[in-house]
Amino acid sequence: MERFEAIVVGLGGMGSATLFHLAQRGMRVLGIEPNGIAHDRGSSHGQTRIIRKAYFEHPAYVPLVERSYTGWAELEALSGEQLLQQTGLLTVGRADSDVIEGTLRSAGEHSLAIESLNPDDLQRRFPMFRANEEMIGLWEGDAGFLHVEDCVRTYIEQATACGATLALGEAVESWKSTEAGVTVTTQSGRYGADRLILCAGPWTTGLIPGSHLLIEVRRKVMLWFDAPDERFHVGHGFPVFCFDTPGGFFYGFPALANGLLKVGEHSGGQPLPDPDQIDRSLRPEDQTPVLEFLREHVPDVGPEVRAHSVCMYSMTPDEHFIVDFVPDRSNVIVAAGFSGHGFKFAPVIGSVLADLAQQGRTDESVDFLSAARRFPGASHT
Ligand SMILES: Cc1cc2nc3c(=O)[nH]c(=O)nc-3n(C[C@H](O)[C@H](O)[C@H](O)COP(=O)(O)OP(=O)(O)OC[C@H]3O[C@@H](n4cnc5c(N)ncnc54)[C@H](O)[C@@H]3O)c2cc1C
Repeated sequence: MERFEAIVVGLGGMGSATLFHLAQRGMRVLGIEPNGIAHDRGSSHGQTRIIRKAYFEHPAYVPLVERSYTGWAELEALSGEQLLQQTGLLTVGRADSDVIEGTLRSAGEHSLAIESLNPDDLQRRFPMFRANEEMIGLWEGDAGFLHVEDCVRTYIEQATACGATLALGEAVESWKSTEAGVTVTTQSGRYGADRLILCAGPWTTGLIPGSHLLIEVRRKVMLWFDAPDERFHVGHGFPVFCFDTPGGFFYGFPALANGLLKVGEHSGGQPLPDPDQIDRSLRPEDQTPVLEFLREHVPDVGPEVRAHSVCMYSMTPDEHFIVDFVPDRSNVIVAAGFSGHGFKFAPVIGSVLADLAQQGRTDESVDFLSAARRFPGASHT
């Protein structure tokens, strides 16, 4: 049985970054992935992911996302790839909405540059959008998007350049941990390691027998539309955007080289008991809320859907991530529950997981992501 210092299970956003950090530190590592690199079966596909600093979800994420900006820049410098594009982010909502209040709170606590736009400013600066009278805008100039598949591919290329081993086309079926180490069984092999890191996205709870992790997997759909004219293209001032509306929370990106712009709904989504049974077809109910949003707020875009892709969110009850040791296991670590907003953090999560695997602890402030935290309203066993 081949033996490694660490095994990473799942090479999506989090696993690819973790494999890189471990390999870069000189550890003998194996990454196991059944679906190939930068595939479209999990949660890390669909062209783009938003990156932003003024984190409405909680100010504790701000230092982590600042580390991630540095991490993405380091990966770009190592590889020569452009992975992050700074387009700015326009966030629109009622002044008293959690999104607007949360963004301003994080910006205030961490001295981030955020510009407030009243409805007149909004109309003048961004005539492609329509806001309701009671809505305001916030402008974050440093924000933008990541080329999601390129990020995963680049992490894997850099990890293998540092000596990481890959087992592609293999799925982990089970693992066992004792004080002497961990044994992992796939359908075609067995591997040993000192540490095991579970980054299997929507499949993670299925890999932890009797898992106490309260993660609900949700089916989410991304839609692509024709850009009406060049004002909607990247590089022409069209930003990444988020709209918190009474009908839901929507986001979108400028059109890329294919001339299509992507729009999705962050709220909602259908709970999915088994990630392998996901329906990847486009249903009428996948389109209706987005088309209504576009009609009201980006009226020049739509209604013909040119392309779609189905993806999965792994939601925790408080929508914060889980990054910790598996309870009662000192050599098994889990990173899951990224709740539809985790990709931008891949560099810092990869580094934290490498710290936990290498030293059993990390200096990053991730206690709020502990697996043992209590979720209000959830039943704890
Ligand atoms: C539609 C959509 C929009 C999003 N928008 C944003 C955004 O704008 N900004 C942002 O920061 N985040 C966003 N997110 C969230 C972000 O993309 C995810 O949090 C992140 O990609 C999760 O990465 P992961 O590595 O945990 O999971 P995944 O990428 O799903 O990786 C898990 C991997 O494990 C593998 N695997 C499964 N079973 C096994 C097994 N038995 N053995 C070995 N490997 C296995 C899978 O094949 C997969 O490759 C969005 C997510 C979606 C779905």
